[in-house]
Amino acid sequence: MAIFVTRAQWGASTPKLVNHNITPANGGVTIHHTGGSKVARSNHADCDNSVRNIQNQHMNVNGWADIAYSHIVCSHGYVFQGRGEHVRSAANGSTSGNQNWYAVLGLVGGAPANYDTITDGLLDAFRYAINRLRVQGGAANAINCHKDHVGTLCPGNLEPYVRWGDLEP
Ligand SMILES: [Zn+2]
Ligand SMILES: [Zn+2]
Repeated sequence: MAIFVTRAQWGASTPKLVNHNITPANGGVTIHHTGGSKVARSNHADCDNSVRNIQNQHMNVNGWADIAYSHIVCSHGYVFQGRGEHVRSAANGSTSGNQNWYAVLGLVGGAPANYDTITDGLLDAFRYAINRLRVQGGAANAINCHKDHVGTLCPGNLEPYVRWGDLEP
């Protein structure tokens, strides 16, 4: 069973702006990975630092309002609260993507043949996050990939799990 980590618990900065203009009943939940190199931490104690670094990058380098994702999940089965329910995402790469779809990031990455291990804990955490976005956030039942909105390799080796339905809560 996944464990939810609130923004206060991971030490999130306060958003610059909270935009409630999202209509996820018309879309669902979009899946992301972190990038082209391996990023998973062996020790869960390091994961909140990874999340804080992403938020810092998004707010203080990219100039965005907050961490771009609705929630963030790690290999150890934890769900870090991102923008949360009923808040527009900024991660999906298109206006319609951010209007109609929440965004959940997995803290995994790598080249296709040298990728972070996709653990049962990671998959459990994705299912928990997706269920929460449906029950508390009104998301429709569809689950898709970042690459379905825009030209990108994201979500890397997570794509088959999306296509096979393994992330269905
Ligand atoms: Zn992505
Ligand atoms: Zn972790």
